[in-house]
Amino acid sequence: MSLFRPDVDALEGYVPGEQPQESGWVKLNTNENPYPPSPRVVHAIQQASQGRLNVYPDPLGKGFCQAAAELFDLDPEWILPANGSDENLTIIIRTFADKNDLIAYPYPSYILYETLAQIQGTRHARLRLEPDWSWNLKLNRPLIEQSKILFVPNPNSPSGNHWDHDIIRAIVPPAGVLVHDEAYGDFVDEPHRMELLHGESGRQMIVTRTLSKSYSLAGIRFGFCVAHPDLIAGMRKVKDSYNCNTLALAAAEAAIRDQDWMLENRRKILGTRERLENSLTELGFNPVPSQANFVWVTHPTISHEEIYQELKQRRILVRYMNFASAIAASNEHSPATVNGLRITIGTDDEINVLVESLTEIVS
Ligand SMILES: *Cc1c(COP(=O)(O)O)cnc(C)c1O
Repeated sequence: MSLFRPDVDALEGYVPGEQPQESGWVKLNTNENPYPPSPRVVHAIQQASQGRLNVYPDPLGKGFCQAAAELFDLDPEWILPANGSDENLTIIIRTFADKNDLIAYPYPSYILYETLAQIQGTRHARLRLEPDWSWNLKLNRPLIEQSKILFVPNPNSPSGNHWDHDIIRAIVPPAGVLVHDEAYGDFVDEPHRMELLHGESGRQMIVTRTLSKSYSLAGIRFGFCVAHPDLIAGMRKVKDSYNCNTLALAAAEAAIRDQDWMLENRRKILGTRERLENSLTELGFNPVPSQANFVWVTHPTISHEEIYQELKQRRILVRYMNFASAIAASNEHSPATVNGLRITIGTDDEINVLVESLTEIVS
């Protein structure tokens, strides 16, 4: 006898990347920022911790919303703060998807969309990408048209490529919402300021952002949605009243008010990324040109799992990802390579250590 809901019994559960709690690892597996957050963030947390922790935080996070609204030149009613962008996704599903609704997402992409759809007990579907990670609109059109929620991480993970906004506008479900997951939005060549939300199709779009990656705050757990106030109003009814704590709200507001700090770290990461892509190519790997803070890479002959294990023995963690079994039943439209390594861009020193080890492993 199981006491669980059948949907929970059926669940495999999302498996996050390894998080060793001891030091001594070169950690390039979960797309964290290798640089510390702004000193202003640390100061804001200290200040907030001297304040009134005995009372609940502001349920709407108005200070943060104001700062984000200024950054994107919108009204604060367009912003909804959350306890990490993963909570954005949960709030969106609980707001928009009933049992019989369809939740769709490209595949391979962020696996959590599927897990959350399974927990909610909705129908869900994978939209298969082309081998070069582009969209096949003809193939996927029927599922897109049925979707109540279409999640699109852009840049995509694990591939790191970025789809043009013309494509994004073309795949908005006619009777649903498109969630443009911009977890890596600050790393694209030309970061945008929410222009997708303007214009006709913008009324059915939700942009999600996180402070975990570009703002170096994965430990704080803070993300937010940006959408038309009508959509935000529905989501506010669903979210927990006090979903963001006092310290996180203070940290997040300080972080996005210090754009210079984020942009300087972004500049370093993009420089290191270019160097890594070149080294990988020289070593015989095939990196996908990335617009994120990680690179998806395959090797024509050596087993990716073996490389992952060899690196792990040297206390270097990258993410080995295998999407093959899950789409074995599909057809020739599956990307040719669905297993590979996703490598987070670390500091220059960390990437040097990685490249030295890879040189040994492939030679
Ligand atoms: C990291 C990530 C998230 C979640 O970010 P958190 O704010 O740390 O919860 C959401 N979507 C994608 C595609 C991500 O890579």
